[in-house]
Amino acid sequence: MVDLQTQYQHIKKEIDLGIQAVIDSATFIKGPAVKSFQEHLEAYTGAKHVIPVGNGTDALQIALMALNLQPGDEVITPTFTFIATAEVVALLGLKPVVVDVDWDTMNISVEAIRKAITPRTKVIVPVHLFGQCANMDAIMDIAREHNLYVVEDACQAIGAQYTSKDGNIRQAATIGHIGCTSFFPSKNLGCYGDGGAIFTNDDALADKMRAIANHGMVIRYHHDEVGVNSRLDSIQAAILDVKLPHLNEYIASRQRAAAYYDKVFGNHPNMIIPAREPQSTHVFHQYTLRLVNVNRDALRDALAEKGIPSMIYYPIPLHLQKAYQDPRYQAGDFPVAEKLAACVLSLPMHTELDDEQLAYITQNVLEALNSCTL
Ligand SMILES: *Cc1c(COP(=O)(O)O)cnc(C)c1O
Repeated sequence: MVDLQTQYQHIKKEIDLGIQAVIDSATFIKGPAVKSFQEHLEAYTGAKHVIPVGNGTDALQIALMALNLQPGDEVITPTFTFIATAEVVALLGLKPVVVDVDWDTMNISVEAIRKAITPRTKVIVPVHLFGQCANMDAIMDIAREHNLYVVEDACQAIGAQYTSKDGNIRQAATIGHIGCTSFFPSKNLGCYGDGGAIFTNDDALADKMRAIANHGMVIRYHHDEVGVNSRLDSIQAAILDVKLPHLNEYIASRQRAAAYYDKVFGNHPNMIIPAREPQSTHVFHQYTLRLVNVNRDALRDALAEKGIPSMIYYPIPLHLQKAYQDPRYQAGDFPVAEKLAACVLSLPMHTELDDEQLAYITQNVLEALNSCTL
């Protein structure tokens, strides 16, 4: 699905130097490498504050911890996504309210958000799924109307650009009150271990989140609130500082691969190519097809036989996960998410796909489909 080895070979010299410099300086925690990366990421995204943290899940947790929420306060999030959001909401004693997604973009449905709002709703967590921003104009309008916070889960969408109705162009994670991203190795900007960051333009929220990420401490050994320990390691920061200047080129490679897939698969009766959010660029963390009248398992097996990996992101929506079972929700409640879970298929997507590989993948998908349609 990804080829991190080849990517490393292209930047090996700089990466190795960056890692070695951290080891030589022995500033493994909060060293100058972290500060440098933080500043470069602020410049890249236009965010006033970037707070590097241990991973994307921590970023979401710290963001929610900073909002003075009370037990039982409701947080709206899509049901078709990775588990992290529901997890931190549950851990903090808040009430996850899941809603359906749009069939075309697979992102959170604005209509469904409106219907889910109650007097206890405090936060909306849109997920910019697979690399393109959800409908942020509409989501920010709803938030203003109902006095809610918006925490963007931009773990899959770093570098995506959103053009608002007013013509302003902003980066994913810098549109809501708070944005979160992950530097998990396979993410679009990945490190060589775990990493994450929080984004905000709000000075007070930034101070609060910095303190929470550091044991709730501003002055050393004075703990003003309950915090956590969540840091980006200096070695990871050094790696990310080398990779950040390549991010736009990495995005372009992914978009090029996506365009190749689109061209071959665009008119096929058994595949629906990814639809584009009209106001967002798509940075293709994943290239996710919707299959029509296809035996998906048989197709995956046929591809695997040819050495082509494929993945199902995500096979079970949040409301049907065992750990999150809730009398409020039953199978059938979120028909779009459930239909997507049954028909999506993600193909290899990374920065190193060349024409030869893309031709091999696409030809084999077309061939395999001949024997896997229902
Ligand atoms: C990867 C991811 C996360 C969590 O990131 P980690 O760094 O693995 O904790 C959260 N949300 C989404 C949508 C993700 O893709």
